Amino acid sequence: MGYKEEIARRRTFGIISHPDAGKTTLTEKLLLFGGAIHVAGAVKSNKIKKTATSDFMEIERQRGISVATSVMGFEYNGIKINILDTPGHQDFAEDTFRTLTACDSVIIVIDAAKGVETQTRKLMQVCRMRKTPVIVFINKLDRPAHDPFDLLDEIEKELQIHVNPLSWPIGSGDTFKGVYNIYRGGLYLFNPGGQTLPEGIEIQDLNSDELVRHIGERDAHTLCENLELIQGVYPTLEQNDYLNAEVAPVFFGSALNNFGIKELLDCFIELAPSPLPRETEERIVKADEDKFTGFVFKIHANMDPNHRDRIAFVKVCSGIFKRNTNYLHVRNGKMLKFSTPTAFMASKKSIIDEAYPGDIIGLHDTGTFKIGDTLTEGEKLHFKGIPSFSPELFKYIENADPMKSKQLAKGIDQLMDEGVAQLFVNQFNGRKIIGTVGALQFEVIEYRLLHEYGASCRWESLNLYKACWIEALDNNELIDFKKHKAQYMAKDKQGRDVFLADSQYMLHMAQENYKKLVFHFTSEF
Ligand code: GDP
Repeated sequence: MGYKEEIARRRTFGIISHPDAGKTTLTEKLLLFGGAIHVAGAVKSNKIKKTATSDFMEIERQRGISVATSVMGFEYNGIKINILDTPGHQDFAEDTFRTLTACDSVIIVIDAAKGVETQTRKLMQVCRMRKTPVIVFINKLDRPAHDPFDLLDEIEKELQIHVNPLSWPIGSGDTFKGVYNIYRGGLYLFNPGGQTLPEGIEIQDLNSDELVRHIGERDAHTLCENLELIQGVYPTLEQNDYLNAEVAPVFFGSALNNFGIKELLDCFIELAPSPLPRETEERIVKADEDKFTGFVFKIHANMDPNHRDRIAFVKVCSGIFKRNTNYLHVRNGKMLKFSTPTAFMASKKSIIDEAYPGDIIGLHDTGTFKIGDTLTEGEKLHFKGIPSFSPELFKYIENADPMKSKQLAKGIDQLMDEGVAQLFVNQFNGRKIIGTVGALQFEVIEYRLLHEYGASCRWESLNLYKACWIEALDNNELIDFKKHKAQYMAKDKQGRDVFLADSQYMLHMAQENYKKLVFHFTSEF
């Protein structure tokens, strides 16, 4: 197979949902179709049940460095599918945001009885920001569900994207009879608990007796009416509208019952994009360029202090990555070569000789990489679109063991490179501030500093509303602002100016008084 065909047959995507909507179950069913696993229950949920550090640590320990669940690759109908795992727990949302930067598209799972939930809304914001194409899967139709039209309206409104149903449910809960595949035509009858593939029934004429024979007169009538309504409201899906992230195709089903999944998958491989061109600060990189480029979007540390090595996950953006070949690590200007790059196929991790755009490779890392680092064959490129988001919680971090200040500094440095949290240094008093998305991260940091670096830290509370990255349209205004707000000025790890607003009011006043400064909630603008 040629290089271009290899790229064209790759689909790299993430599944996102609010916890409990059915992401793990859906992932598992997709893997079953791909033959990547053979029994249900093989995919371990990465869910944190309790809001407890011990729980998180246990999961990390079990996963070890194999991280087989971080990327799941499999083949289906000649298509190479890479599913990127995202942590479900909201405290790790930042990790999910970054993983989304490596996805070419996304499937959103929504619970039919709950509709759009908070986490879904937040994650969708990131998809919108990056114009990631999304497909929606409405799950749990085997349970009493909201009206499908209401669900569609809610998605349009809450997720701010047009929708287009490509399948339609017949009833829900006890009266759930199946789905009608609008995209391909054909009726799929529900068979609860069925692990076998539901075979579709082809129905040429919806007004014939055949439909009535399968689902009864009343449901047949309702379905025909609904389909007519859908035809009127939702025009035929244009693939480009989906690819431009303007319209989200919607499917209905029940992941637990393996129902509606095949239709989703079949449509997904047809519609979803192969690796897309990506922006760098210098130029746009197309997937089919000859030379290899890639970027680090995730770093997974080994929690075992005796083997403090890490895996850097790299998304291949262009060219062919080859084992034992020298590549430029753009940030530090050094050439590096990798003798044991790994990839994950059919839930097995193995050393690979080459990888194509869309693929994710794991590189052994002894502390060289940071999130966002670029690898190339020599060109100095910096991939964009891996921003930091303003954290929600802030604390001062202090050294609790004067004998271990070096260890603490190193530990903080490395954990921040891994993207566990963000570090800001207050320019007024030089104190270090850790910003996180969730309370759990402070515990994780403390635990890891102690167990991996032998360092003790102490937290001191700090009430901040937001950390905002400042864009100055007028440099004099920035100088003036810094003079007046000296106590609230910090630098992030890249040395960028950050304003620490302690209330919404304070931020509002700053915006009012300094019209030539723009305050951003993400580090990239
Ligand atoms: P995640 O948190 O999004 O990964 O959700 P899970 O896949 O772990 O599912 C959460 C719970 O919902 C589990 O108990 C699943 O068995 C259940 N579940 C998932 N899909 C369905 C479905 O289609 N129908 C029903 N009734 N339950 C489901």
